[in-house]
Amino acid sequence: MTSTVLSNQHIVYAMSPDNQPALRVEDGDIVEIHTCDCFEGQIESADQDFGGIDWERINPATGPIYVEGAEPGDLLVVHIQEIQLADRGVMTTGPNLGVLGDELERNSIRMIPVRDGKAIFSDALELPIQPMIGVIGTAPAQGSVPCGTPGDHGGNMDCKRITEGARLILPVNVPGALFSLGDVHAAMGDGEVAVCGIEIAAAVRVQLHLLKGKNWPVPMLVDDHHVITIASEKFLDDAATRAAKNMVHFLEQECGMDKAEATFLLSAAGDLRVCQVVDPLKTARFELPRWIAEKQGFSFSAIQV
Ligand code: CA
Ligand code: CA
Repeated sequence: MTSTVLSNQHIVYAMSPDNQPALRVEDGDIVEIHTCDCFEGQIESADQDFGGIDWERINPATGPIYVEGAEPGDLLVVHIQEIQLADRGVMTTGPNLGVLGDELERNSIRMIPVRDGKAIFSDALELPIQPMIGVIGTAPAQGSVPCGTPGDHGGNMDCKRITEGARLILPVNVPGALFSLGDVHAAMGDGEVAVCGIEIAAAVRVQLHLLKGKNWPVPMLVDDHHVITIASEKFLDDAATRAAKNMVHFLEQECGMDKAEATFLLSAAGDLRVCQVVDPLKTARFELPRWIAEKQGFSFSAIQV
């Protein structure tokens, strides 16, 4: 097992099987991945002119990383060990952006210092940081998916559970998986209603390992408290439905549960939640308490190194 640093000079704006690997690692390696913020550091002041921003350089992801031995049909487990934030974040919103895009009359930028575990939202309000990764995924089997778009390969899911300690499980669609991540937030609420979290550069340490012989409905996430299925669709209703169905399918496959029984369990003890409603596809997640999944037969050791 080796540990490597991948600098934020290696960035892509789309996830694609045609991207050349920036780094090759072995199954089980640890990588410290340095990321730009979602504006690639172009916003440095609240007074800055929106028109001066190069909107082609949005949502860069650092990578891709080729994992030796990864073959289509495998799963890639990304254990997020640590997220170190830069000392300043930024938020933007305006006309045609986010859920208030039809009411906002001008573009706004807010710079948000981050120190001592707090995001200084205003003179009167400090928010606890809740670091999370907005864009994280593998290459799709074919075509090119912009980093701003989520999907079954991962991408811009903006799921706030993708944080320190979590294990995100992604598909391997092409040899080597071609994994990348970016768009870290110092904090973000479910929905991401302004079209951004507290956007910030970061260094993210992950351990990458392969899971063979599982046909789980990914993307999935396992943390100390939850087993989660994540789905993205054009409409939130459809994303929500598929996230719940994916959890039922997981319980059928992994725990041998009957479909109706699994559905009862979700309805009695699970939570269907919104990740984001502002990206080209909307993202929902279904959260089942981990102890319940384990009681039904899910083995956490399956996704540990
Ligand atoms: Ca995002
Ligand atoms: Ca973002």
